[in-house]
Amino acid sequence: MNAPQIISLGCRMNIAESEEMRAMLAGERDLVVVNSCAVTGEALSQTRKAIRRARRDHPAARLVVTGCAAEIDRAALGAMEEVDGLVANAAKLDPRAWNVAGDAPPIAPARTRAFVAVQNGCDHACTFCVIPQGRGKSRSLTVAEVLQEVGNHCAAGAKEIVLTGVDLTSWGHDLANSPRLGALVQAILDEIHQLTRLRLSSVDGIEIDEGLFELLAHDARVMPHLHLSLQHGADMILKRMKRRHLRADAVGLVARVKALRADISIGADLIAGFPTEDAAHHAANLAIIDELDIVHAHIFPYSPRPGTPAARMPQLPREVVKARAADLRARAAARRAAWLESLVGETLPVLAERDGTGYAPNYARVALPEGTRAGEIIEVTVRGFREGLLV
Ligand code: SF4
Repeated sequence: MNAPQIISLGCRMNIAESEEMRAMLAGERDLVVVNSCAVTGEALSQTRKAIRRARRDHPAARLVVTGCAAEIDRAALGAMEEVDGLVANAAKLDPRAWNVAGDAPPIAPARTRAFVAVQNGCDHACTFCVIPQGRGKSRSLTVAEVLQEVGNHCAAGAKEIVLTGVDLTSWGHDLANSPRLGALVQAILDEIHQLTRLRLSSVDGIEIDEGLFELLAHDARVMPHLHLSLQHGADMILKRMKRRHLRADAVGLVARVKALRADISIGADLIAGFPTEDAAHHAANLAIIDELDIVHAHIFPYSPRPGTPAARMPQLPREVVKARAADLRARAAARRAAWLESLVGETLPVLAERDGTGYAPNYARVALPEGTRAGEIIEVTVRGFREGLLV
């Protein structure tokens, strides 16, 4: 083994950071890095599996673990015989933490779509979540730093930029004059003229500022795709999660943005089987998939995380949690199929990836003709769909 192996688990933040670590550690030899996740119990067990597999595949390599699990489960991971070292999550992009030269990670090589993490950490305290423990207080890159990074990615060939963060809509609150995310998006569109596709990753709907809303509703360079960190469809459960929105807020937001931009697609994170959830709460969770026309659903079976208030609430039996997650996935799949069907006959500009597929602005995945080059944007007239892919 020569070039370092960076194994990335979890969220888009981790994906973006793994790309930067890959570039920063390019000169290292016989190094395996597991960029871990601990957002659910399942994620933590996947982290352990990835560590054991990496050690089997690379018996002589130096194996280092970073990421949220390295914060939240430090002692247990550090005690694993497969692990040679841990790097704190907050230090993983600092060359000094790896004893490599340079004072900041170089820009990762060209990708068709590049994730730019403009914000990290979180100041909220949702009762089910361990992320603030793993990533610390919310902090933002400055506008100049973001423009630099976006500019570098575009110069390196990226055709689409995905703005990401742990709590993206809190970007700017720690900067002078507390600018809002809308101002950052406006600055990127004003300064990076060659950028034609800017996408937002998951946002907290209740914290979308007016400037961002206007850009989402009217600017063709902002992709018509809104992914909400919604978590549930029942007000009582949202209150017990300590979320900052209620069902009506999400319904109102989606109705308003769809009235202004009919082709916008809605995605959302939803948790199944949260403690104290009864049949009526579950029914409200199912119903919100149709009410908001959620066509990109991420369904998470609730799992108790150590040290969270929700872990001390009365838990539902695992089989009930799993059954409700299956219900939500089935409802979401039906909603998505109806949406894909509705796109037949449309002509969409698709950004080609390396695997023979690509993404349309509304985040529909499209199968592309043989020989389409990665990074090309081609017009595709939709003839049908199969296995979740437009053809
Ligand atoms: S907003 Fe809530 S769910 Fe999201 S990272 Fe912060 S505490 Fe976790």
